[in-house]
Amino acid sequence: MPINTVDMIEKSLGTLFNGTEFLNDIQDQNREKTFRALRSILSTPNHVAKSFLRVTLENEEVVRIPAFRVQHNNILGPYKGGIRFHESVHEDEVINLATLMTLKNALHEVPFGGGKGGVVIDPRKYNTRELNLISRKYVQYFSDIIGPDKDIPAPDVGTSEREMDWMMGEYKSIHPGNSYRGSFTGKSVVNGGSLGRKEATGKGVYYSFRYLLHDFIEEKKAWLTERENTAAKNLLRHQDKRLEVAIQGFGNVGSVAALEAHQCKLLNNKVISVSDHNVALYNKDGLDIPTLVKYTTKNHGDLPKTTHELQTAGINASIRPREELLTLDIDVLFLAALEDQIHEGNMEQIKAKIIVEAANAPINNAADDYLNKNDVIIIPDILANAGGAIVSYFEWLQGRETQFYSEKEVYTKLYEKMKETFHVVYPNYFSDQLTLRQHCYRHAVLKLSTILYRQGKLY
Ligand code: NAD
Repeated sequence: MPINTVDMIEKSLGTLFNGTEFLNDIQDQNREKTFRALRSILSTPNHVAKSFLRVTLENEEVVRIPAFRVQHNNILGPYKGGIRFHESVHEDEVINLATLMTLKNALHEVPFGGGKGGVVIDPRKYNTRELNLISRKYVQYFSDIIGPDKDIPAPDVGTSEREMDWMMGEYKSIHPGNSYRGSFTGKSVVNGGSLGRKEATGKGVYYSFRYLLHDFIEEKKAWLTERENTAAKNLLRHQDKRLEVAIQGFGNVGSVAALEAHQCKLLNNKVISVSDHNVALYNKDGLDIPTLVKYTTKNHGDLPKTTHELQTAGINASIRPREELLTLDIDVLFLAALEDQIHEGNMEQIKAKIIVEAANAPINNAADDYLNKNDVIIIPDILANAGGAIVSYFEWLQGRETQFYSEKEVYTKLYEKMKETFHVVYPNYFSDQLTLRQHCYRHAVLKLSTILYRQGKLY
């Protein structure tokens, strides 16, 4: 079973209910009533919009395509979240993803709420004109509920800057004279997108790891040494060590994280294995990541998968089955491919003591419990992979100000923003027995609950 967002919200509310830092002056029945209100508000979306897009295909057949826009909560600002084009999209999944966006934005203090969209198609089965039409129809059907101050979509699985450019163009036609640049993020740079947006998630993933293993240890060494907490002991064991790293997935996120790990001067990393949907590559002495990135850029994103291709690429590595990467005897594992990669079937074979969730939900519920009990430090998706969401916020700001940041400024601002979150959650994690994921959810839920209370929504 994947980790359930609503369960995590309930658990977070449970710890806040029993603690003293939230609404301590409200006790007894009033406290129970207030928390019941929070539970029902945060575990359900504000709106679920469903439409059947009427689309005329190239063969002149008229079809209806189911499409959703879920707006979970906007107490912190306009709804924000991607639009997914995938044949497996369904309402519950879109609701869950919209809920996750509310929490992710709250955790990182991004002034947006949570939303998500989906269109039930396999985009590979449609040509460019049809995809253009489907994208524009999506905007037409949901035009009343989206907009720069209402709900701001972005790309997700199956969509990219191309679809966002089309969608913003359609929004502008439907709402002439209105401001439109902030209606969609993840656009192409030439069309008002932010520099650095494509790399932002991979960079942020690496920052979440580097900060913990370098800055945090430097700042808190004495404090960590005094901790009884097993996670603190695990962390300190990795200080100044040669860190053997493996990265599952070498796409947009995994390749950027791999390059960061390879080039990082603050940590002593050695990336010894990377994988994609075909193979895993392994070299005990470390892989030449810059050359692999160049190779994948020229080869539709694929790593070399035969001895001949390795030779052509000039890469010294052995080819292994892709699953082997997960169970290697390494220090650090980045999961940057798909959901549900570590589960009951392989959790006992995992040897890495630090795991970074670059993908969404790559570790299932049972494996999460098991690994935490075995003192593995898991940097969860909600913390690690928010770089794209944060730079989407920068894109929205730049669109409003019509002033654009350099790539370097984007990465500096991204790091500074994520550091504010690390400052809160990392010390808490090493102070008690909650997992890092539980601390992240708890902090997000505390933020949302506080604002809901302050804005009078719990009476
Ligand atoms: P991508 O499609 O660019 O790359 C995915 C990579 O995973 C590819 O290299 C692919 O070959 C590989 N892969 C697929 N199946 C595999 C398997 N069974 N074993 C090993 N590798 C496999 O996607 P991406 O944009 O890099 O996103 C990666 C993950 O991160 C996704 O789960 C995505 O939802 C999540 N995510 C992405 C972003 C973003 O901004 N791109 C933001 C948050 C979360």
